[in-house]
Amino acid sequence: MSREALEEYLALFLSEKVRDFRLIDPREVVTGEWVRLKCQYGCDGYGMCLTCPPYSPDPQRTREILDSYTRAVLLWQPESWQNLRRVCADLERELFLSGYYRAFAMPSGPCELCDPCPREYPCRHPELARPSMEACGIDVYATVRKFGFPIEVVRARSCRANYYGLVLVE
Ligand code: SF4
Repeated sequence: MSREALEEYLALFLSEKVRDFRLIDPREVVTGEWVRLKCQYGCDGYGMCLTCPPYSPDPQRTREILDSYTRAVLLWQPESWQNLRRVCADLERELFLSGYYRAFAMPSGPCELCDPCPREYPCRHPELARPSMEACGIDVYATVRKFGFPIEVVRARSCRANYYGLVLVE
């Protein structure tokens, strides 16, 4: 599919599902070894589900994966990271069924489909459970700013958040 055709296809599929999206070169996505530190020290979700560290790909592996793709979709959805997880998984499936057999989703936040996650393979919902961008060592702040999307450190629970997901296409 040409870039224009893919953008049209995405606009149709993502209409009403996300606030905005960009078709990007995944080699432009920023990763950092420090991101794993933030998961391991300071996040109470560390080790609590199969989509989070230490189960998720480390930053170096993620870098190699990102560099092996040429197109990805960056999605912005300020309302709900849980909903964005579903949208990313659905888009991955749609792309796969359209012939993009390498499609892979990296949404936002931990997987909360089981309560608690048994942390044993096989995963109970393999069609939906995907590691988030941050769980894979992606610097979400630097990445989304690079593509003109808003993001700030959330200082209080009352502050508005912005959620992002990445779906690798080909
Ligand atoms: S779907 Fe269930 S088993 Fe799989 S990662 Fe999520 S919580 Fe864990």
